[in-house]
Amino acid sequence: MPIKAEKKKSSNTNTPMMEQYHSIKEQHPDCLLFFRMGDFYELFFEDAVQAAAALDITLTRRGKKEGQDIPMCGVPAHASENYIARLIRKGFRVALCDQVEDVKIAQKRGGKTLVKRDVIRVITPGTITEDTLLDARAHNFLAVLCDARGSGKVTSINLALAFLDISTGDFFVETVTNRSLANVLARINPSELVLPEHLLQAPELFEILQEWKTILRPLPSSRFDHNNAQKRLEELFEVKALDAFGALTDTDVVAASALVEYVQLTQKGSLPRLDPPKRISAKTILEIDAATQRNLELMCTLSGEKGGSLLHTIDRTVTNGGGRLLARRLLMPLSYSKTINRWLDSVEFFTQQSELRMEVRSCLKACPDIERALSRLSVARGGPRDLMAIQSGLQQIVEIRAMFTAKGPNIPEEVQKSLSNLGHHQELIERLQRALKTELPALTRDGGFIASGYLDKLDELFELRDQGRQHIAALQARYVKETGVNSLKIKFNNVLGYYVEITAINASKVSEQFIHRQTLSNVQRFTTVELSELAQKISSAAEQALALELQLFDDLVKEVTIRGDEIAQAARMIAFLDVTTALAELAIEKNYCRPVVDDSTAFCIKGGRHPVVESIAGNTFVKNGCNLAHNSNVWLVTGPNMAGKSTFLRQNALMVILAQMGSFVPAESAHIGVVDKLFSRVGASDDLARGRSTFMVEMVETAAILNQATERSLVILDEVGRGTSTFDGVSIAWATVEHLHNVNHCRSLFATHYHELTSLEKKLPKLRCYTIKIKEWQGEIVLLHEIIPGSADKSYGLHVAKLAGMPMPVVERAQAILANLETSKPANRTAAPAPKPSALETQVKSIIPDELTPMQALEWLYKLKKLSS
Ligand code: ADP
Repeated sequence: MPIKAEKKKSSNTNTPMMEQYHSIKEQHPDCLLFFRMGDFYELFFEDAVQAAAALDITLTRRGKKEGQDIPMCGVPAHASENYIARLIRKGFRVALCDQVEDVKIAQKRGGKTLVKRDVIRVITPGTITEDTLLDARAHNFLAVLCDARGSGKVTSINLALAFLDISTGDFFVETVTNRSLANVLARINPSELVLPEHLLQAPELFEILQEWKTILRPLPSSRFDHNNAQKRLEELFEVKALDAFGALTDTDVVAASALVEYVQLTQKGSLPRLDPPKRISAKTILEIDAATQRNLELMCTLSGEKGGSLLHTIDRTVTNGGGRLLARRLLMPLSYSKTINRWLDSVEFFTQQSELRMEVRSCLKACPDIERALSRLSVARGGPRDLMAIQSGLQQIVEIRAMFTAKGPNIPEEVQKSLSNLGHHQELIERLQRALKTELPALTRDGGFIASGYLDKLDELFELRDQGRQHIAALQARYVKETGVNSLKIKFNNVLGYYVEITAINASKVSEQFIHRQTLSNVQRFTTVELSELAQKISSAAEQALALELQLFDDLVKEVTIRGDEIAQAARMIAFLDVTTALAELAIEKNYCRPVVDDSTAFCIKGGRHPVVESIAGNTFVKNGCNLAHNSNVWLVTGPNMAGKSTFLRQNALMVILAQMGSFVPAESAHIGVVDKLFSRVGASDDLARGRSTFMVEMVETAAILNQATERSLVILDEVGRGTSTFDGVSIAWATVEHLHNVNHCRSLFATHYHELTSLEKKLPKLRCYTIKIKEWQGEIVLLHEIIPGSADKSYGLHVAKLAGMPMPVVERAQAILANLETSKPANRTAAPAPKPSALETQVKSIIPDELTPMQALEWLYKLKKLSS
């Protein structure tokens, strides 16, 4: 990075301004301080070095401190959002320090003319509201974690996690423990995690927090105030008691309150509109742990892309709010059959009412992101276009409601509820309609957004300004006539204001009333008394008009934010209708069926498909059923590589997620007893990022399943035990299946290429063997992808190797080796690996006690004793 001397300005650190800089920077040591100077935000010292490198902008210097150059860099204020966005994405925090008084006022103070500056906002990854910084279709959660009072030394830690999307007002609390924390964090994927410093020392949390280390924001433990937490929340939400928000624990309350305080701190007091905290109870949610979420590629594929994920495949939502809700449902499907069925009723209704569905969706398409516009307006960061978003969003609501009036009592309960919660906003819509122009500027500060006819006073000022401009035109015509110079023009710039411009050669033709202002190479500039009077009138009318427009803007914002909760509720209903109609659209388009969801432990799928693989394979996708009835709840699936085992396993897991998030499923029919926890493990999956060996990961994850799966859970295990030697692997896989069958009693699908395991069918009454149909034809195999009862008698690994294009000599040599192995070790191919009897066992077996003399018996005893030592 070149260091370029800045010649224009020079100063040293003990100027009043640098003193001011240091005193402000001291209060924000962990932020890059953007220090406003005129039209620029400047950064100094280490901040400048870091920002210049991160933004790839030039590092300059300004003055010296203790003989050393002070590094400096800057960005233009009007383009700062863009630069800040890049810094935030790179994990920095930014404190915006602005001039908080008019320069003129500072000058009037005399003496020191330093303008007052202060930090007006701290921008952190979790507290942004700007569209440019946010992903429109994903929540941006700021989370606060805290532990129960006094549990400085912790064993099994009771924790609370409060999390908030400041850009929409969605606010949740969830009681967690050190065991469940990893899963909850994976689910909400916060962009910033605030926690008391002492938790960093808790050994139980070390590994989890390590994974999230880039977003951690430890604060002194004293900031998590147990004494005033409840009061703060009660005051904020204007309630007498917090019971209305569900049974919050003390720790929940502290976390929620610390979260509110943190937001207040970063927003410098102006708190955005927040929903009251909703308590999430782990019991009502289908638990999907972090590994399962990854393996099933719910939000993104294993390689990190969105395309190819389940979300991407099923998303037909047309609003940003709907997109966010769908993602939330996908990560938090319910485990409560009543609500699931109410959601399914709603989706079914829209599958039957195609015309209505299309009408509603076309209205929704015109619905802007009300939630985010509202949130910006509530922290005084909104613009005229945000007001317009509210207006046109609410307008769509009126139209959507009107579409349902004729539909009468068939409307399902949840849809009915959402319609009545849309609220009535006619008055506000009309006011905004009258007030706003149709074409709006992005920024408020230059005015030009209030429609004519909204306020007489404003119209008058505009008229004065416009008339003034006409007068100027008339004046120019008159001066042309009087001077006889046709090229004479009245122009405007910011320095001179209005002036008369005449080419140098004609300058002598002007009369005395023209007062000289400026000489340039080809032209001369003048003013006249008449022109300055006119200019004065115009500028005063324009100034007054702008002030009035800004005041009207504030009034409108106030009007909107007063109704903030109602508008936010309407926005939630819009998101609900969007998700519901989108799922109906998906069901029709992809021919999904309504699953029967109840409290049994049934799992019976007929003609099931994998939603993502199907969308690539199209018509060639082979449907497969699966019935994990209580007397056959463990399926062991064997078959060659590439036959479709993983696809089959995953499609059944995805079926559960879809059903429990209230969606139809890709099957001819489906009966699913509500699942409480869903586990999916893939053997030999690399986890280098976490620095664990492949096999270790596999074992840790399998252990978690065997420890946690209940009778209501669904477990899919794909090639577990592959990451070690064959005997180890088979033994682990074997014992795992036995445990699932005998202890967990959960519904399980277990895919393996160890066909030795199929002999378990004789020992475990509820285990069934399935395989994938293949056809052998002229020495080749054809994978038919169809699941059939039975087991594979060999691995077909060599066929797959051949298919993969291995050189023929290698394949042929491998065939020869295989033939050799198969003849030399037949036992290994049909039964479980039985350990060889020890010498001691062999000897004991050979003893026939009845035939021994007492002396011989004693000799035997010595012999055996020797063998065992
Ligand atoms: P395995 O786990 O047995 O190695 P996969 O499930 O990974 O096999 O499937 C391999 C490929 O076969 C998939 O990528 C897909 O293209 C195809 N496939 C799997 N199941 C089906 C199916 N039911 N219908 C059509 N193609 C399938």
